[in-house]
Amino acid sequence: MKIEKNKVVSVTYDLHSTSGEKTEKTHVESTGSNDPLVFLFGAGNMIPAFEKNLEGKSAGDSFEFSINSSNAYGENDADAIVNLPLDVFKTDGVVDLKLLQTGNIIPLMDNEGNKMNGKVVKVEAETVLMDFNHPLAGHDLHFKGHVTEVREASPEEISHGHVHSGHGGH
Ligand code: ZN
Repeated sequence: MKIEKNKVVSVTYDLHSTSGEKTEKTHVESTGSNDPLVFLFGAGNMIPAFEKNLEGKSAGDSFEFSINSSNAYGENDADAIVNLPLDVFKTDGVVDLKLLQTGNIIPLMDNEGNKMNGKVVKVEAETVLMDFNHPLAGHDLHFKGHVTEVREASPEEISHGHVHSGHGGH
């Protein structure tokens, strides 16, 4: 069975990234060999370029491909680096200084209640400089792995737009 729209696909992979002119690869993540990524193909849950590179493959096939940053998580956006008042980080009126360490990723909520992760860039007396760019913004992605399973999606999975067994279920 080949990978195409409305198939449930399982893959194991190693992901490395490179940024800018650097050729040195940084390890981002690996699935365990018994813990594949399982997703509904063509449902918009994955990076489109990721799916495009897997389309037509079958269980047992290996893959190795790269996705440049503009087709992955985009470029770093200077507008996504903002100064927030220190008050934002107060819990019960107290700033958690352990939380506010440079490089820490902190989950916050915007005015519309959307959750977003920000990285602490710099802590000052009254403000905190936060970077809300995706950690992989500006990075080219390099995937290497295997297709471990391809199966038909159930009508329910197709109507919900996600997989109901293993990862990505309810
Ligand atoms: Zn569902």
